[in-house]
Amino acid sequence: MSESNQEYIVISAARENNLKNVSLRIPKRKITIFTGVSGSGKSSIVFDTIAAESTRLLNENFSMFVRNFLPRYPQPDADAIENLSMAVIVDQKRLGGGSHSTMGTITDISPIFRILFSRVGQPYVGQANMFSFNDPQGMCPECNGIGRKLGVDLSKALDMSKSLNEGAIMLPDYSVSGWDWNIIVQAGPFDPDKKLSEYSDEDLEQLLYGKARKVKMDFAGKEMNITVEGVIEKFTNKYIKQDVKTKSERTQKAVAPYISEGSCSSCHGARLSQATLSCRINGLNIAEMSAMEVGQLIHVIREIDDAIAAPIVKSLTERLQHLVDIGLDYLTLDRETDTLSGGESQRVKMVKHLSGSLVDVTYIFDEPSVGLHPRDVHRLNELLQKLRDKGNTVIVVEHDPDVIKVADHIVDVGPHAGSRGGTIVYEGSYQGLLEADTLTGTHMKRPLQLKHDCRQPSGKLSIKNATLHNLQNVSVDIPTGVLTVVTGVAGSGKSTLINEVFLSQHPDAIVIDQSAIGVSTRSNPATYTGIMDDVRKAFASANKVNQGLFSFNSKGACENCQGLGVVYTDLAFLDSVKLPCEVCGGRRFKEEVLAYKLNGKSIAEVLEMTVEQALDFFELKDVVRKLQALSDVGLNYITLGQPLSTLSGGECQRIKLASELHKKGSIYVMDEPTTGLHMSDIGHLLEIMNRLVDAGNTVIVIEHNLDVITQADWIIDIGPDGGSKGGQVVFEGTPEQIIHAEQSITGRYLK
Ligand code: ADP
Ligand code: ADP
Ligand code: ZN
Ligand code: ZN
Repeated sequence: MSESNQEYIVISAARENNLKNVSLRIPKRKITIFTGVSGSGKSSIVFDTIAAESTRLLNENFSMFVRNFLPRYPQPDADAIENLSMAVIVDQKRLGGGSHSTMGTITDISPIFRILFSRVGQPYVGQANMFSFNDPQGMCPECNGIGRKLGVDLSKALDMSKSLNEGAIMLPDYSVSGWDWNIIVQAGPFDPDKKLSEYSDEDLEQLLYGKARKVKMDFAGKEMNITVEGVIEKFTNKYIKQDVKTKSERTQKAVAPYISEGSCSSCHGARLSQATLSCRINGLNIAEMSAMEVGQLIHVIREIDDAIAAPIVKSLTERLQHLVDIGLDYLTLDRETDTLSGGESQRVKMVKHLSGSLVDVTYIFDEPSVGLHPRDVHRLNELLQKLRDKGNTVIVVEHDPDVIKVADHIVDVGPHAGSRGGTIVYEGSYQGLLEADTLTGTHMKRPLQLKHDCRQPSGKLSIKNATLHNLQNVSVDIPTGVLTVVTGVAGSGKSTLINEVFLSQHPDAIVIDQSAIGVSTRSNPATYTGIMDDVRKAFASANKVNQGLFSFNSKGACENCQGLGVVYTDLAFLDSVKLPCEVCGGRRFKEEVLAYKLNGKSIAEVLEMTVEQALDFFELKDVVRKLQALSDVGLNYITLGQPLSTLSGGECQRIKLASELHKKGSIYVMDEPTTGLHMSDIGHLLEIMNRLVDAGNTVIVIEHNLDVITQADWIIDIGPDGGSKGGQVVFEGTPEQIIHAEQSITGRYLK
C-alpha cells in the first residue's frame, strides 16, 4: 500500500444496492459531505458499505468462541475497503430509556453534578450517591425516584354536583344500591341526599380518605362485621398499590379510565428524598438546578466560588457549554430523553462524543441539520469542525446548503435515484461543486423565490390561550384553505403548538410525520398503498385462479419462510440473524405460484420493480394512480416489495403522504416534510402541497427549509428564541411581510 493512501479511507468497486462499482477515497481527519438526490446511493456508500464494514471488523476482534454466538456480519459487496478506523454512527434514532434516562444522565453531566453537591452543598448529607434518583439511598421512597405517581383522577371518580343517592361516586364498584355503595351509606355519617359539594371538609375527607375501620351492620336481618374505608383510599389500595396487571383484563379495562399519572405528592416531581433536597448550593437544591434551562444553569454554576469545587465547576461548565454551543440551551437536565425529537436526540449524542476522549474515530452523521433553524446551523458546523480538529474523520450525509459549505471534501452521488443513480458525479471542493453540472451544483446557486400571489383563506381555526410547556398564553388563528408554514428556532414551541395543542383539538386532522410505519414485517409500499390488492386481482383474472394465491400472507406463500423471503434465527441476548430463505431464494412464493404470469412477469418479478418501472408496466387505472402518487412524492426509486422497515423516516413520511393524497376538505399536518429531500426534490413536494390546497384542504407545515417558507400563503413565526425565551407568536403574515418584520429571526434569515 502506498504511503499517501494511509491518509484516506479507500473503497474499491462498491456494489451494495444500486451502487455501480463505486470507487472513492475519503480523506482522513477531514469533513466529507455526501450529497445527491434521495435514493441516489448516499446511504448505500456511507451506511451499508463503510459503517457496515467497520461493525464487521469490530466483531472480528472477538475470539472465535464468542463469534460463534454473534450474528455473522456479511462483508459488504465491494472489492476492497481499506484504512477504516472505528466508526461511530450518530443517527436520529430517538433516545429511549424510559423515565430513568434524562438529559443529565445521557450526557454524563449528572454524576459530576452529584459530586459537586456532595462536596459543597449545605448541610452536608453524605456522599455522592445520595443525589442520584436511580440510587435507593437518594430516591424519593414514595415514587421510587420516578417523580410521578399513579393516582385516582378525582374529576372522573366523583361528580361533586350530585348526592350519593344520585350516583355522585362514579367509580366502577359504587353503582347506586350496589354492595360497596350500601356499606358507605349505611356506615355513615353521611346524608345520602346531600350534594358532595355541600359536604363539610371533615365529612368529605372521611368519605374519600377515611382509614379502614370495623363497623357492625345489618344485612337481611343478619348482623355482620364489615370493614369500611374511604372511597378513594379503598380504590387506591385495591387497584393502584397492587399491580393492576395481575387483575383480569376486564377489570384492568374497567378501572383504567379512573387512574391517571400525576406529580408525586412527596417530592413534587423532584424524584429525590427529603434529606437530599434539603442540601443546597447558593440557595438552590439539585432538583431546582436540574429544572433550570441549561443556558441559565451555566451562569449559576459559574458563580460557585469554592476552591475545592473549582475543578468540578470547570468540567461542568465545559459540558454545559457544549449543549449551549449546539443550540440546546433551552433544554433542562431533568428532561426525560424519550420526549426529545429526532434532531434533538442526534445533537445530544453529538455532545456526548465531544466530551469524550476518543481520537481517530470515523464519525458518521445522517442529516444532522434536521430540526435546526437556519440561524443555528453555524453551531452545528462548529461542532463538526471541533470533532475534526480533535483528529477524527467526519462523514456527513446532508442536503442543507449551509452545512455543505463547511465540507473539506464533497462527494456528490447521482445523477438520479435508484437504477439511474449509484455513481459519483462530482468529487472535490465546495467551490468546485458550485461549478459542477450536477443537480446539487445547479441547485446550490439558485436564488430564493418569494411567493407574491398568496391565497385568501376560506376561514380560520382558532387556538385560544395555550400554555402547554413554554407557550405563553398563545392565541392564534390558523387560516383554512391555504398553505400555512409554522417557523421558529428549535425549542421555540412549534411542535407544542401544532402537534400537541392544535391536534388535541382537531383529532380528525391527517398527520403525516416521520415515525416508522408500525406494521408487520410483510408490509411494503405495495401493501401499504393498496396497489397489492389490485395486482392480486389482475394476476387472478389473467390466470383464472384464486387471488388468494398471490398474497404472501396465505397459501401461495413459501412455507419455509411464510412469505418473508428471509428466515430469522433467534439468538439469546442478541439481535436475531436474518438469512435469505433457502427454499424460495427470497422470492417469497411457491414455485407453482411463480409460474403464473401477468404480461410475462411473475408476482415476484412485479414486486422487484421500482415505482418507475411499474409505471411503465401497468395500465390499470387504479394502480397507475397510486404509483403516480408515489412517484410524485419523489419515491420513483423504491421497489414495490421493499420492506417498509428498510425505509428512512423521511421516506416513511412520503409514503404516508402518497397514500393520503386523494382526500378533500381535510386538515393536513406535516412536521419537516423536507427531511431526506434533495433541493431538486423540494419543488415536487411543494407542487403536492399546493395540489392539496387547491383541492380544498388546509395544509399546516412545520418547516425550517427556506424554499418552503418562501412559498407559504401564510407564515406563523414562533419565538423569539427557544425555551422560556420563546413561546410567543412573533409574526403572522405573508412571505413578503416577514422580510420586513424586525422581531422575527426567520425574517432576518430570509433577507
Ligand atoms: P440515498 O441515501 O441517497 O437516499 P440509498 O443508498 O438509501 O439512497 O438508496 C439507493 C438505492 O438502493 C435506492 O434505489 C433504494 O431503494 C435502494 N435500497 C436501499 N436500501 C435497500 C434495501 N435494504 N433493500 C433494497 N433496496 C435498497
Ligand atoms: P420546537 O418544536 O419549536 O422545536 P418544542 O415545542 O419541541 O419546540 O419545545 C418548546 C419548549 O417546550 C422547549 O423548551 C422544550 O424543551 C419544551 N418541551 C417540549 N416537549 C416537552 C416535554 N415533553 N416535556 C417537557 N418539556 C417539553
Ligand atoms: Zn416522589
Ligand atoms: Zn421462502
